[in-house]
Amino acid sequence: MSGTRRTVPRAGRLVDRFGRAHTDLRVSVTDRCNLRCTYCMPEEATFRPREELLTYEEIARVAGVAAGLGIRSIRLTGGEPLMRASLDELVRQLAAVPGIDDVALTTNGLLLAEQAEPLRRAGLHRLNVSLDSLREDVFERIARRRGLDRVLAGLAAARAAGFDAIRINAVSIRGLTEDEIVPLAAFCRRERFELRFIEFMPLDADGGWSDERVLSGREVRAILERDVGPLAPVDALDPGQPAVDFAWDDGAGRVGFIDPVSAPFCDRCDRLRLTADGQLRNCLFSTTEWDARAVLRSGEADGEVKARIAALFGKCVLAKRAAHGIGSPAFERPARAMYQIGG
Ligand code: SAM
Ligand code: SF4
Repeated sequence: MSGTRRTVPRAGRLVDRFGRAHTDLRVSVTDRCNLRCTYCMPEEATFRPREELLTYEEIARVAGVAAGLGIRSIRLTGGEPLMRASLDELVRQLAAVPGIDDVALTTNGLLLAEQAEPLRRAGLHRLNVSLDSLREDVFERIARRRGLDRVLAGLAAARAAGFDAIRINAVSIRGLTEDEIVPLAAFCRRERFELRFIEFMPLDADGGWSDERVLSGREVRAILERDVGPLAPVDALDPGQPAVDFAWDDGAGRVGFIDPVSAPFCDRCDRLRLTADGQLRNCLFSTTEWDARAVLRSGEADGEVKARIAALFGKCVLAKRAAHGIGSPAFERPARAMYQIGG
């Protein structure tokens, strides 16, 4: 843990008790999704009523306060963010917030073919597309829905729209995804997509997670080095990123590993989260939330609302724990599953 322990955030900065400054806000725009990935959602999901979700104007208002406190980067997620109507309108509003210099999106890509162009025009900077398999039968076993063709069409459309640094995220689960690793790597090398493998975290709605099912980044890397070629460690493109990056020695791009279970990076965490229903969280595994929606809808004057939202951010950051604690006896799964938080 770097830095000295602090008891109050420095003025204008979201610094927690362990010296971590927060510059990244993950914003979920919906809990709905057009897939039902087994590691995330239940087969039968119930969703928040529409009126409980923050409006785009409310999200932009929170983003404005956050930017004043040092947030520089916003990533939209969900649920499936592209299921929310006119997401490009939100991107446009967020890209215009003074202080926000990076607006990114994580999507399953099913609706990307239609939306890539308007999103790009609205000012979306970066795009992560989740893709666990290039075989339709395996895709369907994991996602409980078909859709591989649409994801591939979405990727092509994103490239045509001018997104250059497109990243593919793949979750690694023992007994499920081992055979997908090498084909995904070959695809990303050929298409020049950056590939990231993410360890399975205990955030699945079905409660099927266990330590044994975590296929570690180290194991995935060993498979890649055995079957594809040597990988050399390289400096992170972004110092705050959780992924540890490697480059193919033949120059065919990079592979990153996000290993929250086998190699937690909590000491470098710079993220806060806003759920689709307007709750601030300081960690994926947080068991406490701070209700920004209630403040936004309190009917108070604009200045008062903004001051109270800023105070909520301060409380949220000061309550952040040193680490998520997965694997410790005291670890408690959050009540929400991944799709209800925003990954
Ligand atoms: N629906 C969008 C998508 O799939 O990209 C955005 C939301 S999804 C919750 C964000 C990311 O979280 C995806 O890359 C997904 O694979 C990942 N994810 C979901 N559940 C996970 C889990 N239990 N462990 C690790 N990653 C998970
Ligand atoms: Fe939907 Fe993304 Fe969760 Fe899959 S990981 S069920 S695409 S929210």
